[in-house]
Amino acid sequence: MLAQRTTLLKSSGTAAARAAAKAAADAGMEIVDLTAGEIWSELARMIRQGAIEAINKGVNRYTDPVGTTELREALARKVSLETRQIWKAEEIAVTCGAKQALFNAAMVLLDPGDEVIIPVPYWTTFPAQVLIAGGKPIFVDTRSNGYVPRIEDIEAAITERSRAIVINTPNNPTGSVYDTQTLTGIAQLAIARDLWIIFDECYADFVHGDEAHRPIVFLVPEVRSRTLIVNAFSKSLALTGWRIGYLAGPKEVIDAVKALQSHTTSNPNVVAQHAVLAHLQRSDGSYEAGLRAQLASARQVGLSMLSSLTQVPIPRAQGGFYFYLDISKLVWSARRENVTRAPDEIVSALLTDAGVGVVSGSVFGDPAGLRLSYGIPTDQLVSGLARLTRLLNSWN
Ligand code: PLP
Repeated sequence: MLAQRTTLLKSSGTAAARAAAKAAADAGMEIVDLTAGEIWSELARMIRQGAIEAINKGVNRYTDPVGTTELREALARKVSLETRQIWKAEEIAVTCGAKQALFNAAMVLLDPGDEVIIPVPYWTTFPAQVLIAGGKPIFVDTRSNGYVPRIEDIEAAITERSRAIVINTPNNPTGSVYDTQTLTGIAQLAIARDLWIIFDECYADFVHGDEAHRPIVFLVPEVRSRTLIVNAFSKSLALTGWRIGYLAGPKEVIDAVKALQSHTTSNPNVVAQHAVLAHLQRSDGSYEAGLRAQLASARQVGLSMLSSLTQVPIPRAQGGFYFYLDISKLVWSARRENVTRAPDEIVSALLTDAGVGVVSGSVFGDPAGLRLSYGIPTDQLVSGLARLTRLLNSWN
């Protein structure tokens, strides 16, 4: 018999989509996999060098549970630059990716039954972690508002049990980038209704066109004492496997996180910590610029191909590296013709009939969505989107 808690544990839907694409490929199908939440790229030179240097120095011991002082200081400088405020090392915890930063936040902020407001569509781990921590996710739909929450909808969701709101901009899965007015409104609401803000900016480096990422603490400095900033190098340095992220917030929160992390993972991998420190201290920014150029070009190519879709609006794809398609018209027209084409069947048909792996929006609380990643090599992207547009347009 397992603990009751395990009934809350469903493994990540994005991982399942990825596994389905891999299984089809292993079975001999030629699959273009657009499911990945990571960027295809070479390892950054300074990360490689920093790791090799650490190994050659014989680095092998525990560090402080929330990271070396040098790395925490370097991260404090990074957050200071980004928020235009002074941050100290004691306000930073280095974590095993952003996922652990978010988990820590849920564990140290939530009492049983505390409510956490989460805009829909959401990255699938947000509600899962709130549940594990004993909290209750409260969803606010953003679909009729360009995937950005309306302040009045957030306000309507607040109760006396509300404890926090999760903001993820640029957003996974929708690619939306929250505007200044929305972020300011959320900040004011958080102050007025005494809420924590969990501000996940993992995709901050990837904003496209005229968009800009706006750290909420920069826009409204008064929310700093109630905000936890979550970030990682997983996306910005295409470093998903190295597991280095961080949480920035008030010292009392970081102290609690340190105690928690000392009993869970202890420190994030020491070699990876050294590698990221070397990158922060010595890189010239050209690696990040290269990634941005790669994604900007893939986005352009992809948007031009998706413009040929007849029943699906072109996604705005303002940030991150996802195209998020609204397939409600396809589902709706299928219903009128009395053909069943439930959203998950569309995802299966794309895999089996077109050989394209995508993630169903149901994983993100939105059955009428499809997420396609464009962090893959352009030739594969072109081939995948050509197959996808052909199949979806054939259902006119
Ligand atoms: N936050 C968001 C919005 C994400 O999309 C992801 C990963 O996909 C994470 C956090 C977790 O990142 P990490 O791999 O650093 O744990």
